[in-house]
Amino acid sequence: LNNFGIDIWSNNNFIIEEGELKLNYKNKPSLISLVNSIRKKDYKGPLLFRFPHLIEKQIDRLYDTYTKAIKEYSYKGSFNAVFPLKVNQYPTFVKPLIKAGEKHKYGLEAGSKAELFIAMTYNKNAPITVNGFKDKEMIHLGFIAKKMGHNITLIIEGLNELETIIDVTKETKLQPPNIGVRVRLFNSGSGAWAKSGGIDSKFGLSSTEILEAYDQLEKNDLCEYLTMIHFHIGSSMNSIKPLKNALKESGHIYAELKNLGATNLSAINIGGGLAVEYSQFNRTINYSLHEFASDVIFTLKNIAKQKGVEEPNIFTESGRFISASSAVLIAPVLELFSAEYEAAHLRLKKKNPPLIEELNELYKDMKKKNALEYMHDSIDHLDSLLKLFDLGYIDLEDRSNAEILANLIIKKAISFLEVDDYEELKRIDNKIQEKYLLNFSIFQSLPDFWGIKQEFPIMPITHLDKKPTRSASIWDITCDSDGEIEFDPNKPLYLHDVNLDEEEYFIGFFQVGAYQDVLGMKHNLFSHPTEVNVLFNENDEVELEHIIESQKIIDILEDIDYDTDEIKAILNEKLDKDIYNILEKYLYDNSYLKTTWS
Ligand code: PLP
Repeated sequence: LNNFGIDIWSNNNFIIEEGELKLNYKNKPSLISLVNSIRKKDYKGPLLFRFPHLIEKQIDRLYDTYTKAIKEYSYKGSFNAVFPLKVNQYPTFVKPLIKAGEKHKYGLEAGSKAELFIAMTYNKNAPITVNGFKDKEMIHLGFIAKKMGHNITLIIEGLNELETIIDVTKETKLQPPNIGVRVRLFNSGSGAWAKSGGIDSKFGLSSTEILEAYDQLEKNDLCEYLTMIHFHIGSSMNSIKPLKNALKESGHIYAELKNLGATNLSAINIGGGLAVEYSQFNRTINYSLHEFASDVIFTLKNIAKQKGVEEPNIFTESGRFISASSAVLIAPVLELFSAEYEAAHLRLKKKNPPLIEELNELYKDMKKKNALEYMHDSIDHLDSLLKLFDLGYIDLEDRSNAEILANLIIKKAISFLEVDDYEELKRIDNKIQEKYLLNFSIFQSLPDFWGIKQEFPIMPITHLDKKPTRSASIWDITCDSDGEIEFDPNKPLYLHDVNLDEEEYFIGFFQVGAYQDVLGMKHNLFSHPTEVNVLFNENDEVELEHIIESQKIIDILEDIDYDTDEIKAILNEKLDKDIYNILEKYLYDNSYLKTTWS
């Protein structure tokens, strides 16, 4: 049976039992039970489940692994980590994250003024680092955060930022926060997001600029505030080699600065980069967390020894690793496109074109032993019949009969092949794909699929005790042909042949907790899905924290600056009161498909 690669990507977070996908935690609720309890309350669109215990699991794994490696190598520096808010700023994610990280003093990284406000407000006794380009106001905010008592480090991306820090120190007489220097490394990363590192990167200071920065700090009596060297070679590194090179480069820069007299320089911040597995077909990451942590400690220890300086404290800013697994999107299947091809819709005539007669015979006479042959014949016949229609030799009824019969034959053949000729089924996938229409927006919920064809694990959450037999392409409900996950014969997705009139079918998209929430866009005005945090009470039972419904249509319109009173007034004027009242109810629904009205 197909397990959809959960042994590759799920890190034991999910298990398949009794045909259902279950959370491998506490009383092991099935995902379908969570879906049903929310849909009962009339939320019918896509659902985003957040699992705070999975955030905690990743934070604990990170700290435990580094703590072990530090012990193993008798390393003198400490381990510290911050969560880069750019990866997920949603309060429903950030608040549980802060709670889960408290015991480790897990901090936050901000890359903009808005993110810095979040960090200043919610961070508790843990470090804050600030990256990204900064104006005077943002630097001033850093000073204010320091005055509030935060342990904050402003990491400068260029010399102008250091000049502004010096100006703000003079103008405000406030004590400056710690200062970090982002270095522009010669060594860049690997993987889809490698551009943030390397000599051509838009971020960081060159060696000449670092020396210049140090001179400036000395001249202005601010050397004591220089505490951190920072680099980030790119998100989701699938190979560890570039990290090792970057560690050597930054480790030597750290040691050189220390030897120049930067006595309070005590930390190297290695940015993010820890990858997560998105593939359900084969492993794509060539290292383990343990190997990653050991390499960091071992390399920095050696450099410190070689240059006779103290071993630096380590900071990491991995966000994808912490957050990706914590959210799962579940979308209902609205339609299987072949479902319209039912025998009841056939309009066979007394006398049909010969190829139609033949299709009909194939359908009636098909047995297990000839299933494959008949299916191939039917696909050929359908091709010929469609050509005959284009040439004007058969009519619309004939064409409809041809489409229905060919699809019925394919379905019947698959039901025979299901048992033991799966390989053959695979071979002919391309010709017999089923299109699954799902109630969600790829642009809103999987923007990285749309933008950079990032793979996400996809699987049904029920029917897992049955062999999926339909090679599937997934369509969303936007009016855009890019809203499709095409069938890829090299990474084939098989789903079940279900009769949606009799049963519901839901598809889960996994590892969507990193970047997808905030990068999602309102194409066609589909907004963020309805979401809920899944918690557990003291009896280990599920407790769904309050549900945040997908935005109402009226709010979506207001967000893009429509005057919603004007909209209501115009519609009201043009309609009878009764009809207007119904319309107003629709205006206060969310925009995903619903149809509970029969
Ligand atoms: N730190 C910085 C400076 C970044 O630019 C990023 C993202 O690119 C991260 C941390 C997060 O890295 P990751 O996505 O690998 O967790």
